[in-house]
Amino acid sequence: MRLANFELDGERRSGVVVDDLMVDLSRSGLPLDTVDLIGQWDRPKLEHAVAQGQRLPLSQVRLLAPIPRPAKNIVCLGRNYAEHAAERGSAAPTIPVYFTKPHTTVIGPEAEIIYHRCTQQLDYEVELAVVIGAGGRNIPKERALSHVFGYTIMNDVTARDLQKAHTQWFKGKSLDTFGPLGPAIVTADEVPDPQRLRVTLRVNGQVRQSAGTDTMLFDVVTCIAVLSEGLTLEPGDLIATGTPAGVGAATDGLLKVGDVVEAEVTGFGVLRNTVVADRG
Ligand code: MG
Repeated sequence: MRLANFELDGERRSGVVVDDLMVDLSRSGLPLDTVDLIGQWDRPKLEHAVAQGQRLPLSQVRLLAPIPRPAKNIVCLGRNYAEHAAERGSAAPTIPVYFTKPHTTVIGPEAEIIYHRCTQQLDYEVELAVVIGAGGRNIPKERALSHVFGYTIMNDVTARDLQKAHTQWFKGKSLDTFGPLGPAIVTADEVPDPQRLRVTLRVNGQVRQSAGTDTMLFDVVTCIAVLSEGLTLEPGDLIATGTPAGVGAATDGLLKVGDVVEAEVTGFGVLRNTVVADRG
């Protein structure tokens, strides 16, 4: 099942994507916010709502981020692919490296990434993002996948100069629009093994990143288990699992105004965004 948010008649609605249709859940009596929908998950009720809901052609709706406002900051893995750590001049970490991005970074498919005037080095990072279902603390590896609600795509947009200048990564990773997310949440039952996916990123149609998730240094299970040690994960929390090699800073391919960036996880659809100048 593919959960999405979309805009129709000027309001945000939740829906389920079925082939090339969007099934509107806004009159189903189910929670309107995706985080609440996940927290109060009732699949039979949702399937009933999908059978009854109004169907709209996907081409007629504007998709929004599937989780516009996670309950806590988006947790991200740094240097979780060996070749990416090497291209950034770092050793491969021996323990997961976590940092976060605030919800104000989040934008949806087709929304604009702002090239803020406070940076001169705008970069992309395609990542598989995990959506937590059942919350918990001290989740053992053996049970970690049972806490996964589903998966989506995130582009961990980064201001490389700010990332370096401020030492701690928060500032360079957290500017408004630096968290494109979507196009939908693919529920975990459709992803039997999250380490058998391919993440790809294209700029203006040219492939810049492409790797199998089997090459992550710390797999999804480990990312969840270690993060949850002494730290409560909640429904709708997002964990972006790191990016493979090929970022712009390492390939003389930083982003510029007008670039079209497409982040993809095979089978999940495409998360497309365009870079625009800072008009604020
Ligand atoms: Mg990243």
